[in-house]
Amino acid sequence: MDDGGGGRLEVIAGPMFAGKTEELVRRVHRARIARRGVLVVGHALDTRSGPGRVASHSGLELPSRSVRSAQEVPGLVEAGTELVAVDEAQFFGPELVDVVTALADAGLVVVVAGLSVTFDGRPFAPLPALMAVAESVTKLTAVCAVCGRDAAFHVRLGGVRAGRPGGDADALAPAAGHVGGTESYEARCRRHRAG
Ligand SMILES: [Zn+2]
Repeated sequence: MDDGGGGRLEVIAGPMFAGKTEELVRRVHRARIARRGVLVVGHALDTRSGPGRVASHSGLELPSRSVRSAQEVPGLVEAGTELVAVDEAQFFGPELVDVVTALADAGLVVVVAGLSVTFDGRPFAPLPALMAVAESVTKLTAVCAVCGRDAAFHVRLGGVRAGRPGGDADALAPAAGHVGGTESYEARCRRHRAG
């Protein structure tokens, strides 16, 4: 670590299916090519790819350390770690803000990816706070499953089915990136986020 002058916080935010993890993986690969020490952290609650790896919907993946709370992250930083990548930041809660701020203050490059909105379209902590204190914010959109426009939101299909107009069977098909349990989600634009 240096005197802290090189530290920075980079946030990658957006709805589901926006390619956030893919962008995180891309930045980690670049850092590895530059021979920087990299630590990749996922949350134990993220069961999408199993413990010990961070995976994108398109199949890119990285080995990672799984933790149960933000407070565990600093303990994983070793001598030589220069970049810390945190995926699925929404699992970590508000405590993540102070933790990654301290790491960036100490001279590390911290890249955090996570959902900026809940499935009902509200700001999803801690992403709004992380975006406020970051040097760089990359806000990604997905593609609306109904009309193809830029999608800043995602919906849980069970939640929109009742209110949808008829004749839109495509919107009820299982999402390609089915996540967890029996629910499925789709990316939606502003116009199509409500049933
Ligand atoms: Zn749409």
